[in-house]
Amino acid sequence: LDNFYKRQICLNEVGEKGQLKLTNARVLVIGAGGLGCPALQYLAASGVGSIGICDHDQVDYTNLHRQILFTPSDVGHYKAEISAKRVSQQNPLINVDVFLEKLTSQNVKSIFKNYDIIVDCTDNFKAKFLIHDSCYLLKKDLIQSSIYQFEGQLQTFNFSNDEKRNDGCFRCLWPKMPEANCVGSCEDSGVLGVVPGVLGSLQANEVIKLILGLPNLTQRQTLTFDLRNMQTSKIKWKKKTDCPLCSKRATINKIDAKTYLNLRPFEISSSDIDLNSVLVNILPKSEDLGFWTNKNIRHIHHIEAKELDKIQKMCEENEKVTFVCMKGHRSYALVEKMRGLGYSNCFSLAGGRGEI
Ligand SMILES: [Zn+2]
Repeated sequence: LDNFYKRQICLNEVGEKGQLKLTNARVLVIGAGGLGCPALQYLAASGVGSIGICDHDQVDYTNLHRQILFTPSDVGHYKAEISAKRVSQQNPLINVDVFLEKLTSQNVKSIFKNYDIIVDCTDNFKAKFLIHDSCYLLKKDLIQSSIYQFEGQLQTFNFSNDEKRNDGCFRCLWPKMPEANCVGSCEDSGVLGVVPGVLGSLQANEVIKLILGLPNLTQRQTLTFDLRNMQTSKIKWKKKTDCPLCSKRATINKIDAKTYLNLRPFEISSSDIDLNSVLVNILPKSEDLGFWTNKNIRHIHHIEAKELDKIQKMCEENEKVTFVCMKGHRSYALVEKMRGLGYSNCFSLAGGRGEI
């Protein structure tokens, strides 16, 4: 293994010194999917000494055309565990840690704690804004990418550098989080596998350059790459004097669940769960995976949504009842139904079980 890094150490930009920097680097990849797989492989192979993988999802057959660390026999297993196993085999010289949790406003601080660079390989606005704001507030460097069909975008934020941190953020461009359904996800709009493959590799490239002190994309710059016509461009945006995050008039000063939820009526966020509220898991037993990420939730009742008489009794006997399902859709439908029946003390947990 002495020769593992030989071909990159001989680069003037790396050398023994640079390789040591890589060994000492601590990088967290959020999302072990289409972007995360290639990013993880190149970070591991280049010798980033400490890598974290945060993902609560399991491998599905529809992932395999683009999430190239997985094989059909991995279906049903946790992506974070499988990818950690694969990259550890790829490079036994590094240390890989796994977080099988969905990143939330509640756990972001503890998950980010041991890392300096965060690589956002997620596929939804809520996660992206939560990661971005947390990186800004906790002064972590961030490499962010997103893809849509044949197109990809890439941004690098050097928030650990005070001067660059004061030079603008993603909220200067997007002050408000867009509605969840305004752009399709891979799930409903489709994507060619090489697109996240290219963008995830570019994310690893930005991380490695950041560690080595080589030039990165600048603070308020988006690289766009259209893989249909092979056009790239760099778009520069302005720092906003009324940015909700990085200006003197900032309104986002801490990481709060409410910032990342567009709450509907009768919907509550995890930070609204109080001692007076009884929690009811309404998932069918066949879907209940039997684990709850938040250790603080001591007790949660389990009544399936179809057991309406039991649900009614629960609402009659308690001051406040909060329904929880997988993603917050079925619990919301149940609240609407119960409210229609006159039960005004029931609520739905926005985002579902991963939020608590
Ligand atoms: Zn800003």
